[in-house]
Amino acid sequence: MQQPGRMMDRPLLVSAILEHGTAQFGAQQIVSRETDGSLHRYTFTDLAARARQLANALQALGLKAGSTVGSIAWNNHRHLEAYYAVSGSGMVMHTCNPRLHPEQLAYIINHADDEVVLFDTSFAPLVKAVAAHCPRVRHWVALCGETDLPTLEGGPAVLAVDRLIQAQSDRFEWPELDEKTGAALCYTSGTTGHPKGVLYSHRALCLSALSACLPGVLSLWAQETLLPVVPMFHINAWCLPYAALISGAKLVLPGPRLDPASLYELMESERVTVSAGVPTIWMGLIQHVEQHQLRFSTMRRTGVGGSAMPKALIAKFNDVYGVDVRHGWGMTETTAIATMSNLGPDEMARPAEERHTLVGKQGKSVFGIEIKVVDENGTTLPRDGVSQGELMVRGQWIVERYHKAERSALVEGWFPTGDIATIDAQGVMQIRDRTKDVIKSGGEWISSIDLENAAVAHPAVAMAAVIGVKHPRWDERPLMFIVLKPGQELSKQQVLDFLTERVAKWWLPDEVLFVDSLPLGGTGKVQKNELRHQHGGVFEGR
Ligand code: ADP
Repeated sequence: MQQPGRMMDRPLLVSAILEHGTAQFGAQQIVSRETDGSLHRYTFTDLAARARQLANALQALGLKAGSTVGSIAWNNHRHLEAYYAVSGSGMVMHTCNPRLHPEQLAYIINHADDEVVLFDTSFAPLVKAVAAHCPRVRHWVALCGETDLPTLEGGPAVLAVDRLIQAQSDRFEWPELDEKTGAALCYTSGTTGHPKGVLYSHRALCLSALSACLPGVLSLWAQETLLPVVPMFHINAWCLPYAALISGAKLVLPGPRLDPASLYELMESERVTVSAGVPTIWMGLIQHVEQHQLRFSTMRRTGVGGSAMPKALIAKFNDVYGVDVRHGWGMTETTAIATMSNLGPDEMARPAEERHTLVGKQGKSVFGIEIKVVDENGTTLPRDGVSQGELMVRGQWIVERYHKAERSALVEGWFPTGDIATIDAQGVMQIRDRTKDVIKSGGEWISSIDLENAAVAHPAVAMAAVIGVKHPRWDERPLMFIVLKPGQELSKQQVLDFLTERVAKWWLPDEVLFVDSLPLGGTGKVQKNELRHQHGGVFEGR
């Protein structure tokens, strides 16, 4: 007969991470680049005190367990305080991507039912643009001190967070929640239509953050200094703000300064040992370092994901600069890192060229996550490194259904990722293609269908198609094809001017090609593969 395990039943909670970090590593530092460029420095203990003050302040504003608090902010200490204060007190931390078009931003704020929105002062114009469309937001709170408080002429009244928490106690009794309670919410705009929200539970965040600390993932402990370049508004910065407090690692937050020179300077001055971000960031950093003949004095490793890390870049980091590249795969729906390159001794003994090829693949699933590839009928394909199919994933921190969706997102218990991959006999997964019709540029999504819809709204346009084309800096950039209605004329500039009013500026196609017709398949759908085949290299030299 089975016997019950006789262990305590303690929930995995975000508040427990904060209290652990404070109790065990209270003096550990958090360095934060402020919006004005200055550096702010304090300890885990100071973070906890301000987080508890903020929790009290949110309660005083009338928010309750289950309320949702939005944020539009960079990686900085006030955003971090909100991460812990909001989730810790049983509310939901909804991180908004400031790169969204204001219309989409308003949509997600409304869909999430944000009652308070916290924002960095640099996003004041954005707040001004969306506030009128978000009638249910009761307070707009600027993440700054009283003296830096922006006034939004014609916009909503704004409170300064420092003022708000000033009179509050730094004691707060964190509620003992069910670990399955929603703690954080992040929307993905990867597919067509409206963005879809993923509501992370405390349990998912804790497990994913624990996993990030593993030696085979990012190897975090109290001797490391961690700089997450990956934004806190994008899948919880891969859970690194939690992982730092779990492991006791010093945390360095780069604020809005993500240009290579500022990042390099911060890495050197704060003696950063480990970082994480998308390939575009590392590409810029390496160029800067090469140009100025610099070296990394303390950087030992970096986690990379969001799009494929080019092999040449892996080689350069590894062989020239002594920085170990950990290449992983994940998505908003997987909370954070789901797979990671994790080479064994035999693989490490191979020639550099082969090692870099291996690291260039997306790696092995971490414990807690299972992966498989399936064909169109859902049949599992062999792990032979060549059979390509849709990548399916399941595990402890994988989404089950989108926020407020009535139906599960799963297919027979697995989440279909929309990525096409192979898995080899050693379990190494490699992304080969994508079924989702989207473009990944600098780590962020551009919806090709939204762009096409925007273009066909022009009275002179008969058809439009957009494909993602390889770009050396941004990974992919949009290329637009337009078929004009008979007798109509339009210039590239006119198309861009028209689109500017409808989509975010960085979504604008790099090139617009006017064609007589588009290749159509049997069902009348544009054959994008054909377009990619013909025009795949247009941006290579740029
Ligand atoms: P993130 O950008 O943080 O990974 P998103 O949800 O915005 O999260 O995007 C997830 C998608 O990005 C994946 O489904 C996949 O298409 C792509 N992706 C993520 N990591 C990689 C990688 N290492 N190589 C190739 N594509 C990747």
